[in-house]
Amino acid sequence: MKKLYNFTLLYFSFQLSQIIRKPIHWGKPTTLSIEPTTSCNLRCPECPSGLRSFTRPTGMLSKQLFEKAIEQSKDYLTYLHLYFQGEPFLHPEFLELVSLADRNQIFTATSTNAHYIHEDNVDKILQSGLKQLIVSMDGMTQEVYQDYRIGGKLEKVQKGLALLLNRRRETKNTYPRIVLQYLVTGKNEQQIPALKDWARTIGVDELQLKTTQIYDFEDGSDLIPKDLNYSRYIPTANGKWKLKKTIENKCWRMWQGAVITWDGRMLPCCFDKDGKYTMGKLAEQPIPAIWSNSKYQNFRKMLLQNRKQIDICQNCTE
Ligand code: SF4
Repeated sequence: MKKLYNFTLLYFSFQLSQIIRKPIHWGKPTTLSIEPTTSCNLRCPECPSGLRSFTRPTGMLSKQLFEKAIEQSKDYLTYLHLYFQGEPFLHPEFLELVSLADRNQIFTATSTNAHYIHEDNVDKILQSGLKQLIVSMDGMTQEVYQDYRIGGKLEKVQKGLALLLNRRRETKNTYPRIVLQYLVTGKNEQQIPALKDWARTIGVDELQLKTTQIYDFEDGSDLIPKDLNYSRYIPTANGKWKLKKTIENKCWRMWQGAVITWDGRMLPCCFDKDGKYTMGKLAEQPIPAIWSNSKYQNFRKMLLQNRKQIDICQNCTE
């Protein structure tokens, strides 16, 4: 009831802010992304974890910090994405973090490259309380898969997924729901029919064909698919490329959720991969205080006035 009431407050304060063009904010975050680690086993070219290009510190979330974040947010939180940058399964206590959130009645999801699902941990995954597992797999042959997921092994991903789905069926578990996410690029779009066949055969719960964010899109990129239905960008008359979606001076995400890095920085959203807009640190202030501090409110104000003045918002489809 408290969570529903909180959501209602968020929704109406968001709507009111649009009308008066000033940030009115009632309520607390209903969703959070918390980063277990910045470490990753892969080297994907559009990802700072993969490129090892962070300027913020890299490391692993401590259990104490996670417990603190849950304690401060559990009364309002409806959805926790235990993911931001990095591969969550590299965190040695990852499944314990999931269980802790689950015990606090929070719907818990994660995203993974699925290189760490094997006999030794499959039952623990099923028993952890994890509700949703989003698996990134962007190719149906090793050659195409590794073109983006550099260092990845497609066979490992497919075997891990098959093992998890089979064991889930055998043990009559409902969770975690498996969402197979395919970032469509100019290099893998021709494999979509094969992907659909495989996803049906193996029995994933949902297949998502996602558009890919490209940092330097203005001059085009071979990562932009030919089928523009799968592209965030479209060509312009002068030979350049632009975002397909018209940017509006609003963002629901700024009213409903936030990101917390492994070392406790609170960020506005997942587009701030390097923590440029750190709104506060959990070591210094609790989540509700950061959520409504002047820095956060100023950010929301800038967004309502002219979103284009914030660099991370310029390449965002929200
Ligand atoms: S990048 Fe800007 S517009 Fe996009 S979700 Fe983040 S704050 Fe909102």
